[in-house]
Amino acid sequence: MLDPAATKSFDSGSIIFRQGEPGALAYMINAGRVEIVSGNAVKVLGPGEIFGEMALIDGRPRSATARTLEECVLLPITPEVVSKRMQKADPLIRLLLKQALSRPAETYPTATVRTGNTRVTPGATQQQVAVELNMATDLRSALSQDALDLHFQPIVTLPDNRLGGFEALARWNRPGVGFVPPPHFIGVAEQTGLITPLGRWVLVRACQALKRLQRSRRRAAPDDEALFMSVNMSAHQLYADGEVQQLLDIVESTGVNPRRLKLEITESVLMDDPPLAEHAISTLRNAGIRIAIDDFGTGYSSLNYLHRFPLDTLKVDRSFVAPLPGDGPGVRIVSAILSLARELGFTTIAEGVEDASQLTCLARLNCDYVQGYLISHPLPEAEVHEWMTPSARRHPPRAVPG
Ligand code: C2E
Ligand code: CA
Ligand code: CA
Repeated sequence: MLDPAATKSFDSGSIIFRQGEPGALAYMINAGRVEIVSGNAVKVLGPGEIFGEMALIDGRPRSATARTLEECVLLPITPEVVSKRMQKADPLIRLLLKQALSRPAETYPTATVRTGNTRVTPGATQQQVAVELNMATDLRSALSQDALDLHFQPIVTLPDNRLGGFEALARWNRPGVGFVPPPHFIGVAEQTGLITPLGRWVLVRACQALKRLQRSRRRAAPDDEALFMSVNMSAHQLYADGEVQQLLDIVESTGVNPRRLKLEITESVLMDDPPLAEHAISTLRNAGIRIAIDDFGTGYSSLNYLHRFPLDTLKVDRSFVAPLPGDGPGVRIVSAILSLARELGFTTIAEGVEDASQLTCLARLNCDYVQGYLISHPLPEAEVHEWMTPSARRHPPRAVPG
């Protein structure tokens, strides 16, 4: 959404820019009229219209003079804003836009399309978009053929190292290509709308696996608390019309106890549209599902949302765990995050624990749970069942690609 706070007011008769001046901003008129003069040609623009956009594209000096005819409110559009939104758009839309925008620039042999601070030649962009579109096509067929996988990474309690639950992580072995890193195909899924069916698929599989894993667990350790399952959620899943209800229907149809399910969302998801996020999260919470903040500390530094939303768990990002124990500020930062979380009544999970000294340090800082390669890599379900048997737990599980 455009930020209305970023608008600027201009008195009548103000020159916004002059012909021949350098400049990279375009403007949208929120209120008032603006006159665009180029040689003898005069054009008058009103609310909702955009001017100065050529500078965003070709970076050449202004080809006209823009002057307000009355008091005006304008919204400056920066190359960074355009670039950021382009990155989020569907690859096909991006290609169409780039093509359309680069057309006038092509009349100058050396011109390239400007996106943000980088200059991208249309050829390179087309190649990248083609790669993403191919990936989206393959991902769509993988989904329809049920050819994706879900791995499960154990999450254990501190200080006694008991199994608490799992995080479900999507895996894709792309035919002819091999293992695709999840951030890559999840990104493409988000840009193409595939994230909605993919997210539902993940939730169905995670719930079904949870029931089987809980059965296994009850046989091995009847007195232990029931296991939980954490599932990653993209912004689109929370914000798409009717999607939260779809997710609730899935949980109900699989018959898992919603209280044993956690949905992991990042801070930026909450901040994209706080009122809508609040509504979605409250709906999930009222159904008993718990919400975890993923990668805590890497996104918005505003802490306001921690009490605004009905959250349950805070996952301390791997980047904070990596410097532990050490004698730098790292320990104090993690200690402060954990105290804050405790103060607000959150359960805490530290991510990316790779060595025993990190584990000892986190236990000393009273972190509730840990997750990381030290305990186990994410595993296919069959190996998790094996891992849960007490004899197997005494030996580190076989390491599989993350
Ligand atoms: P994430 O949610 O932060 O998931 C944790 C990532 O850290 C996983 O990477 C996991 O394999 C990795 N990891 C776990 N322990 C360690 C460790 O000790 N050291 C290191 N270096 N890494 C560790 P993965 O599976 O590659 O997933 C990457 C990201 O992709 C996830 O980050 C998540 O944002 C996204 N993702 C994966 N599956 C899904 C999904 O089903 N839905 C959505 N929306 N996103 C997903
Ligand atoms: Ca996660
Ligand atoms: Ca994480």
